[in-house]
Amino acid sequence: MVETTTSTTHAPSLFEQISTMGHENVVFCYDDATGLKAIIGVHNTVLGPALGGTRMWVYENEADAVRDALRLSRGMTFKNAIAGLNLGGGKAVIIGDARTQKNEALLRRFGKFVQSLNGKYITAEDVGMNERDMDYIAMETQHVTGLAESRGGAGDPSPYTALGTYVGMKAAAKVAYGNDSLAGKKVAIQGAGNVGEHIIAHLEKEGATIFVTDIYADRLQAIAKKYKVEIVGKEDIYDLDVDIYAPCALGATVNDQTLSRLKCQIIAGCANNQLQDEKRHGDACLEKGIIYVPDFLINAGGVINVYSEYAKLPNEWVVNKTESLYDACLEVLKTSLTKKQNAQEVAIAIAQKRIDTIAKIKTVR
Ligand code: NAD
Repeated sequence: MVETTTSTTHAPSLFEQISTMGHENVVFCYDDATGLKAIIGVHNTVLGPALGGTRMWVYENEADAVRDALRLSRGMTFKNAIAGLNLGGGKAVIIGDARTQKNEALLRRFGKFVQSLNGKYITAEDVGMNERDMDYIAMETQHVTGLAESRGGAGDPSPYTALGTYVGMKAAAKVAYGNDSLAGKKVAIQGAGNVGEHIIAHLEKEGATIFVTDIYADRLQAIAKKYKVEIVGKEDIYDLDVDIYAPCALGATVNDQTLSRLKCQIIAGCANNQLQDEKRHGDACLEKGIIYVPDFLINAGGVINVYSEYAKLPNEWVVNKTESLYDACLEVLKTSLTKKQNAQEVAIAIAQKRIDTIAKIKTVR
């Protein structure tokens, strides 16, 4: 049994969480020999198989890992739906340190669990995973994407996630300033990882002023050698006088504490689950006049690339589809302002409408 904190903390129980979020299936994967502890969340398969990456992370406790798997898989349902892909939403988390605990046996054992779902869940890369890891998983299951280009896969999704995030930032600038140029705009990037670096490259090309933070000093030094950026402290990122705050690390960084500090007009980054509470903090952004670009929409470029591998579509399709996120963001942000409704809710409603409509035609014989 994983969730053990309910009676003392009054946190929702495991089954309450599953019921509230509407998951179809949650699988707990445990293997003594390899030390594997993983959770696969299959949220919704109306539009197609549940596709979403596997994250490897050191969680403070198992309940946090469960919550992450549930929230991330639900996010994938909306992301795949709003991006117009024929995919449902799923996600997996492996509990552990990707720098020290990852090995062939553990990954292949995880692959066996993915295989046991018979294609209901298709995995891919996420934080803590890379193409080589996908190769190991692929030794045990065919339900894996994000393989290296040399293996016929679509390769690293990060450049496309970054492209989508960049055009989403521009759409937000258009709504905020009437002009989508980011030249001279001050942007704070939290997390100089795979995606963060590609975003920095786009921003530098356009002439933005870039501030960046990360938890790894070596990573920051490498970025500062390649790009014109100002390195700032991990906590200082929230107090900067910037136009755009871009969460590009982990989730829940838009919360009561940070919202009282942030001075930006736009929140637009690639991280998943940026709002600690979708309702409360989405509403708070609206009230404070901050344009928040829904995370699952702005960061859909990566899954668009992954989908191209699954559906065998060319790179040109990936680029066009990712660039079209500009118009999708514009539509959501304009509707949010006109209806005075939190942007995350607007985006979810658009995604849910597509799922509901397609569910109806699926029952037609
Ligand atoms: P990554 O692991 O390469 O980069 C994340 C970076 O954030 C790392 O350098 C890490 O050190 C840093 N970091 C972690 N905690 C931090 C903190 N508290 N403050 C500052 N920096 C911190 O991951 P990535 O692939 O670049 O993904 C970044 C985010 O975007 C994740 O939330 C991921 O789920 C999301 N995302 C990624 C993709 C993709 O294509 N890779 C697609 C969709 C969403």
